[in-house]
Amino acid sequence: MKNQKHIGLDFDDVIFDMCGSIVEYHNKNYGTNLTRDDMVSFEFSDVWKCSIPETQRRVWEFFDSPEHQVSEPVPDAIEHVKELLDNYKVTIVTARPETHMVPTKKWLENHVPELLPYMHFTNGFGGGVKREKGEVCKELGIDIFVEDAPIHIESVSKTVPQVYLFDMPWNKALVDLPKNVERVHSWADLREKLL
Ligand SMILES: [Mg+2]
Repeated sequence: MKNQKHIGLDFDDVIFDMCGSIVEYHNKNYGTNLTRDDMVSFEFSDVWKCSIPETQRRVWEFFDSPEHQVSEPVPDAIEHVKELLDNYKVTIVTARPETHMVPTKKWLENHVPELLPYMHFTNGFGGGVKREKGEVCKELGIDIFVEDAPIHIESVSKTVPQVYLFDMPWNKALVDLPKNVERVHSWADLREKLL
């Protein structure tokens, strides 16, 4: 029998390998020599040593680039997301801007087309009216959420009963987690909790 719980997934660094892809893109186009482990701050401007508007411009440029379309998923994400689809109602809630919905959905279509109708954009960094992820999750009735970004953990943990923090270089410092937030280190780890 199907488990009808509703699971919400963040997109970048839970499904789409943003960290690995943006590091490679930035090194190629902006002369840096960064690795994944250098991305210790969720604010890319801290790592790239540039202003916030310039950071936003570079990220949006990446979304529109051919490199974005051939970026890899997070290891094992696709097979596990497909497995979740057999057991849960699944929705993606991303802070990406609505202005870049087209390239984002194009990538998703190549990997998990089943989720195309179930993707919400919250404009966390501009590009439309900003909404808190927690508010969107509450509206959708999400029971479980998977997120990597420290800036969204507080808002989702207030409205979602169970939150999993996907381990990334920029969230290692987050140690005092709310009671309903548990750190996971991989999709295999997450699968243990969910299936
Ligand atoms: Mg993310």
